[in-house]
Amino acid sequence: DQVQGNRRSPAAANGGDTRERNTVINLDHGDPKMYESFWKKLGDECTFVIKGYESLSYFSNPKSPCWFLEPTLEESIKSMHGAVGNAVTDGYSIVVGTGSSQLLQAVLYALTSHDQRNQINVVSAAPYYSSYAEITDLVRSELYKWAGDAHEFDKDEPYIELVTSPNNPSGVIRGAVVNRDGGILVHDLAYYWPQYTPITSSLEFDIMLFTASKCTGHAGSRIGWALVKDKDVAKKMTKFMEVSTIGVSKESQLRVAKILQVVADRCKRFGSPQADNFLEFGKSLLAKRWEILRETVKKAQMFTVPKYPLQHCNYTGDVTQAHPAFAWIKCKEGIEDCEKLLRNHQILTRGGRKFGSDPGFARVSMLGREEEFKMFIERLSMIKMFNNGDG
Ligand code: PMP
Repeated sequence: DQVQGNRRSPAAANGGDTRERNTVINLDHGDPKMYESFWKKLGDECTFVIKGYESLSYFSNPKSPCWFLEPTLEESIKSMHGAVGNAVTDGYSIVVGTGSSQLLQAVLYALTSHDQRNQINVVSAAPYYSSYAEITDLVRSELYKWAGDAHEFDKDEPYIELVTSPNNPSGVIRGAVVNRDGGILVHDLAYYWPQYTPITSSLEFDIMLFTASKCTGHAGSRIGWALVKDKDVAKKMTKFMEVSTIGVSKESQLRVAKILQVVADRCKRFGSPQADNFLEFGKSLLAKRWEILRETVKKAQMFTVPKYPLQHCNYTGDVTQAHPAFAWIKCKEGIEDCEKLLRNHQILTRGGRKFGSDPGFARVSMLGREEEFKMFIERLSMIKMFNNGDG
């Protein structure tokens, strides 16, 4: 997931040469490298040292339903939600996972039963996060099966609806769409942080999934967490992890605990200098990128991007619009395959079909390094020139 052959020659730095023009930009994954510059500036404040004799045990916390959850991680997760005001933690059990990807699997296991006669349907409204279908059907479980777009689900059968809000890929705030008896909701709130979207309330759904990958950009640590109202569900999710990996790396948990605590301590008051406040840094960089993208798209007249409503953000106190982690780009009429068009210009994205949607759409990560983003914008504006027979 890198810019390939990305060593820039002096000529490239002076306006681009053939090599730069041929460099492939990979904006397929939501790899959060744009945050590197913030963490570099912070220097050693988040450096975390672990000694040879520390954290040998499998166990962390016998009192928690999630017995391998490090108490410091639990504390910093609570501090973070408390400081931002995006989710309630009182009365919830916290379950830690190897990314929220593992928690998704744990949730599907926890919400189904070995006694049930038929597989439970798993649905999500299109365009849905492309991994849901893959995760659900990977091992062809007898407990559950992928049943596709929630808008189309009309069976009178039990179901689990995955609600992604803000949505990946489209960035919009969402609620459940099936709304029928016998359904269980799982809220995937990976992007419900103020750098991506206005925080309009402190959420209290039964099962809420979050991840360090999108919150602080530490995707490599592979830490996600679930806030779970029902203790028995939390215990069953823990059982899933116990059987699959006997817990979650202590090194990763302790590192993320440290980072979340630093972010939480610094973000209590919005408006402090940007160098100090991670969320403010993220928000202002994404806002700038979205502004540039909108201008480019407007000039090129080849694509459209969604508009987002102005809303009051309880965290920043501003009226602001969303600046999602992905741009859900639609090609203008007559161009059938947006991913292919962009690939022809050496921009790798994920096409609409993978999200249960139209191939006229493509999802582009907005979270790349500055250099990648700049090249992406340069190329988007070139597509207009090609279209006009100008290149
Ligand atoms: N849910 C959503 C909506 C996501 O976009 C992602 C990452 N792309 C995940 C879950 C999984 O993230 P991770 O496993 O890195 O925590």
